[in-house]
Amino acid sequence: MSSSTVNGGISFWYAQDGIPAPREPLPGDTTADVCVVGGGFTGLWTAYYLKKAAPFLNITVLEAKFCGYGASGRNGGWLYNGIAGRDTYALKNGHDAAVRLQKAMNDTVAEVVRVAADESIDADIHQGGVLEVAYTPAQLARLKDFHTTEIAFGETDRVLRGARETAERVRVTGAVGSTWTPHGARLHPVKLLKGLAAAVEALGVTIHESTPVTEIKPKHAITPYGTVRAPYVLRCTEGFTAGLKGQRRTWLPMNSSMIATEPLPARIWDTIGWDGRETLGDMAHAYMYAQRTADDRIAIGGRGVPYRYGSRTDNDGRTQPATIAALRDILVRFFPTTAGVHIDHAWSGVLAVPRDWCATVTLDRATGLGWAGGYVGSGVATTNLAARTLRDLIQQDSGQAGPTDLTTLPWVNHKVRKWEPEPLRWLGVHTLYAAYRTADRQETNSPTLQTPRLARTANRVSGRH
Ligand SMILES: Cc1cc2nc3c(=O)[nH]c(=O)nc-3n(C[C@H](O)[C@H](O)[C@H](O)COP(=O)(O)OP(=O)(O)OC[C@H]3O[C@@H](n4cnc5c(N)ncnc54)[C@H](O)[C@@H]3O)c2cc1C
Repeated sequence: MSSSTVNGGISFWYAQDGIPAPREPLPGDTTADVCVVGGGFTGLWTAYYLKKAAPFLNITVLEAKFCGYGASGRNGGWLYNGIAGRDTYALKNGHDAAVRLQKAMNDTVAEVVRVAADESIDADIHQGGVLEVAYTPAQLARLKDFHTTEIAFGETDRVLRGARETAERVRVTGAVGSTWTPHGARLHPVKLLKGLAAAVEALGVTIHESTPVTEIKPKHAITPYGTVRAPYVLRCTEGFTAGLKGQRRTWLPMNSSMIATEPLPARIWDTIGWDGRETLGDMAHAYMYAQRTADDRIAIGGRGVPYRYGSRTDNDGRTQPATIAALRDILVRFFPTTAGVHIDHAWSGVLAVPRDWCATVTLDRATGLGWAGGYVGSGVATTNLAARTLRDLIQQDSGQAGPTDLTTLPWVNHKVRKWEPEPLRWLGVHTLYAAYRTADRQETNSPTLQTPRLARTANRVSGRH
């Protein structure tokens, strides 16, 4: 890592766009119709859609730090149609139910783009779709399976490309094939987040920052500054959920880390291509994700140290030098002409992993408590679908509307068991990621068509598939 690489500072996106002026903390005890805990995409989209649907509602958002402090202000800016758990929902609720979920996700990408335009939010959105590449035989076999599966779930507009066609899009060294879907866009997460927070406030929602909720109870959100009493209290705290009283083993906080290069000159882009600005991923077990930013950098992410003992979460986005070096290695492996480029920024964030790796959205009608999350690594679009679903569930519960297409999707009110206590949790996750790294090395060093047994076992043991 170069001494001039910024490490942390929440994220590169904030370094570029500025940390916003703070909003006032909760002034004392108060009441609301709906209290949203957490000012990331889940919380803000939920406030947005609820207030749009029912402008008379008194909605308060409580945010521990500042809006977008979490994953929503740190992610890779892949707005795409992936949703964690779809295949499990297909097994549990039937194929057709999962197809409805997938179609809802496809529509969600378009919905985010639409609202950004309606609200005049310039979030550097570029609808180039999602390109995922394979560069070993086993990855190619997985890629083809993945491609076929996605088509079976209704993505008839997906395209499989060979080595030459892939290189015409992006010249990834050694790429032997790719799959592309139009249901994806690149964006600047912080620009979207800030625009959304401003839109929510303009609608009349109250946002209090620097206000950590210590406990959520039916009809109560308790903070050091006072308590908000509300018939509906919605937990939108994703990777930070373990910090709430009684939630330590609900979702596991998993780290993901990123680096952003300096803006690359035209002579390097000439060697890479990537004119379509697709979001770019691979089929490795410890996969990478990347985007070409609006100002021509490459922002690339992957797993760092995956999990910290005791579900500890954050140090304002700092990541380990070894993770930065590993991400740089991936960058240069993909694009050798970037070997000399400067890494301007490195950071990390937490996402939530449920025990069965399935995202959920829930409203408990007995208590008025709701939550959405467990998106694993796919939340930029999924948060929007979750928010519209929470809106519909609340409208249904309060007698303002009946069931909708969204309230009957298979991820609604899904129950999952808790994670194991420590040290099993720590050991399990570290063993899982060590297995993935070893499997990736095996696939690269001794190419076979088969995914190594180690990775298959890791998937099974972790509850991932
Ligand atoms: C490095 C990284 C890269 C990613 N890349 C992508 C990507 O490219 N595409 C994609 O689809 N997904 C990606 N994800 C996942 C995606 O960013 C998240 O799923 C999504 O942003 C989750 O939004 P959220 O609002 O549920 O959670 P968050 O954005 O984490 O928001 C939770 C908020 O709650 C606040 N909070 C926490 N505890 C409390 C409390 N007790 N009281 C009050 N407030 C509290 C936090 O401060 C935070 O602001 C990535 C995640 C990471 C970490």
